[in-house]
Amino acid sequence: MHGLMMDRQLLISALIDHAGKYHGDTEVVSVNTTGGETRTNYATIRERALKLASAFEKRGMKKSDRIATLAWNNHRHLELYYAISGQGLVCHTINPRLHPEQLIYIATHAEDRILFFDQTFLPIIEGVREKLPGIEAFVLMEPRNVELAERLPWLEFYEDFVDSGNDGHAWPDGLDERDASSLCYTSGTTGNPKGVLYSHRSTLIHAMMSISPDVMNFSARDCLLPVVPMFHVNAWGMAYAAPMVGAKLVLPGPGLDGKSLVNLYNREKVTMSAGVPTIWQGLIAHLEATGEKLPYLQRTVVGGSACPPAMIEKFRKDYDVEVLHAWGMTELSPLGTVNNLKNKHLALPEAEQLQMRLGQGRPPFGIELGVFDDDDNLLPNDGETQGNLYCRGFWVINQYFRGDGGDPLHDGWFPTGDVATLDEDGNMVIRDRSKDIIKSGGEWISTVDLENLAVSHPAIAQAAVIAARHPKWDERPLLIVVPKAGQSFSEDDMKAFYDGKVAKWWIPDTVVTVDALPLGATGKILKNVLREKFGDALMGN
Ligand code: AMP
Repeated sequence: MHGLMMDRQLLISALIDHAGKYHGDTEVVSVNTTGGETRTNYATIRERALKLASAFEKRGMKKSDRIATLAWNNHRHLELYYAISGQGLVCHTINPRLHPEQLIYIATHAEDRILFFDQTFLPIIEGVREKLPGIEAFVLMEPRNVELAERLPWLEFYEDFVDSGNDGHAWPDGLDERDASSLCYTSGTTGNPKGVLYSHRSTLIHAMMSISPDVMNFSARDCLLPVVPMFHVNAWGMAYAAPMVGAKLVLPGPGLDGKSLVNLYNREKVTMSAGVPTIWQGLIAHLEATGEKLPYLQRTVVGGSACPPAMIEKFRKDYDVEVLHAWGMTELSPLGTVNNLKNKHLALPEAEQLQMRLGQGRPPFGIELGVFDDDDNLLPNDGETQGNLYCRGFWVINQYFRGDGGDPLHDGWFPTGDVATLDEDGNMVIRDRSKDIIKSGGEWISTVDLENLAVSHPAIAQAAVIAARHPKWDERPLLIVVPKAGQSFSEDDMKAFYDGKVAKWWIPDTVVTVDALPLGATGKILKNVLREKFGDALMGN
């Protein structure tokens, strides 16, 4: 017997319909790529998304066709999110930091039919356009520009494209919540990128979970500024969660430096933000240099790579901002865990509460985690035994797009490639990526722990620890650091700094100073590049 309740489909269009109807005058503030900003609202975003959806229909776009975007966080990108998925097409967000060859690979693999892009990326498009014969239209996300139109006859303009649609368009009937809605490729460091194809259903369930108090805790009283890009895992779902609750949305465009962000936070009275640790490093450096404060910002989600404890403390002590450390992956839409305390922790002394806040948090309803040994035995959730982290849940991948990338599942679980511990409440601490962890004389050393300590040294801005090959111990830790401007330190200083904080045999053998660390397309440190460069540095020892 079925239940006798309405069987309405969980569709992405329902989000913007809700926001347009009940939060129509809530502002969306967008920093434009070519300067200036646009102040719009959910009612207008919805209206324009519908018109754009009509333009897609007139262009002959059929259900599940892929439409690509190469764009910053801005209002046009938001309109595209809703127009594309709302019309039953698939919004394929491309990361502009990818190498052009990878971009060509994924746009070809995805069989994208139209590509929308911001002006910043025009040189990239000019470089790859001829290698993308399947793309029928390249649309610059700007009003018509006469000079560009003359110089580049193949170029189309966003505002013309919108205008070609009809007013009064309605979302198509008959879409199923299991239909594909958006596509994001993983930015793996080896092999071809793999496509993760989200459904309307997985996206809506993820959004409903993400707004809940123990996850990101969004409400209509919030003003959200996603620094996390809409071109990578849908800005951690914030572009869906914000209209769901009717929160004001501030989209920062290309200006992700500390000065631009602090200016936006304070002028727009942003209450909540989210981004990767490297972004916050720039922001903190700016705050320290200028003495500015963040009087409105209450909390920020930090994830994508391990958030150093020193950063969590600095935000709390110096700026009264609560850091919610979170862990996720493209294959998880992306949220897997968020760090929020339970009632029982509130009675703990402050130092212990702080300690609890350093890990990546616990899974919300909808995600299940397990740690396994190399023979697939389930390991205890005792907070100490580390193992391969597996995951399953309502918004976790089942298969890669077109099957390319192998079978992602193992006995119904998704092996994350991370090594972690879990305690009895599911509180997780990521110890490492399985390919980064160091095995010295048969014992494991966590590069994350050593990096977190390194960046708590007053002279160090950024740090990476890699496994360097070693004739006696197989592998030993090698520390690579970027010093803060105008600061200096010696190798002995650094080693002494570790003394007493970790076991003696964990202390890195060598410290290398560099001007900058190589970062991948999503802001993560490219340890494979560092291993290639420094991996044999200890072989003479
Ligand atoms: P991506 O699919 O590009 O978002 O990368 C996912 C990977 O980023 C995870 O498997 C982790 O290795 C890493 N990651 C994400 N969040 C965290 C975090 N809070 N701490 C440590 N690693 C993280």
